[in-house]
Amino acid sequence: MGTPRLTLIGGPTVLIEYSGFRLLTDPTFDEPGEYKLPQVTLTKTTRPALSIADVGPIDAVLLSHDQHADNLDNAGRQFLGKAPRVFTTATGAKRLGGRAEGLLPWQSATLRKPDGRSIEITAAPARHGPAGIESLAGDVIGFMLSVKNRETGPVYITGDTVWYDGVAEVARRFRADVVVLFAGSAQSRGPFHLTMDTNDAIETAQAFPGAVIVPVHTDGWAHFKQNGEDLQKAFDALGFGSRLQLLQPGIATPVSPLHYSRANTRLANQPISSAIMAVARPYNSP
Ligand SMILES: [Zn+2]
Repeated sequence: MGTPRLTLIGGPTVLIEYSGFRLLTDPTFDEPGEYKLPQVTLTKTTRPALSIADVGPIDAVLLSHDQHADNLDNAGRQFLGKAPRVFTTATGAKRLGGRAEGLLPWQSATLRKPDGRSIEITAAPARHGPAGIESLAGDVIGFMLSVKNRETGPVYITGDTVWYDGVAEVARRFRADVVVLFAGSAQSRGPFHLTMDTNDAIETAQAFPGAVIVPVHTDGWAHFKQNGEDLQKAFDALGFGSRLQLLQPGIATPVSPLHYSRANTRLANQPISSAIMAVARPYNSP
């Protein structure tokens, strides 16, 4: 139970098994096809690696935002009705109605099991593109998962955001063992990116020096401009490629925290950049 297990279903959709709870991020289960949004047409290019039936029962959906088809598609919308709890933005919860519970950045909710186990879900701020995009892109949140007994380290799910002061503030307030990073350098509104590009991912990795970085939201859509390979090349070039853990779609992958490695015992006493170099070696994923 101590090691989170992640299964990439496609795009931003990930099954996260965390401290005995099963959580699903941004549900998307449609077949490939086109989505006409008011400003842009989005094209999905790959099928989900798992069907809704394959996923099985879950405890909650963590929906970073409801207004974009690549984060919540038609089948994903239906799936929300089957989830016992759905956490999303405050504005999204109003639009969705039903079970959706809105969280403002830094607000928390608790998930409990009948046997008394619980996890805390805290909403994190997110900005879905460059400064000024807020009114065009709408509200987005990320999520921080934590448990009181610290048996399992915190997991940060960025949601659709770029690197900006809000993400830096998450790093000032929380430590994370795992960062599920919504990357792909999505471009659909102009010559600027709406989700993390390689530079943003590197800034985030620097801000969370103890975390394994697990990129998602990198494949399956025509407007995603960078994939896992691009991130691997960028991280390798800077000497900390081993901090990335790329997921194979449909494969449940345990993500062991970096601090299990010997090198990381020196982490606390080092400047961030050299600490990253110190933890860079034990995890090489070619
Ligand atoms: Zn979006």
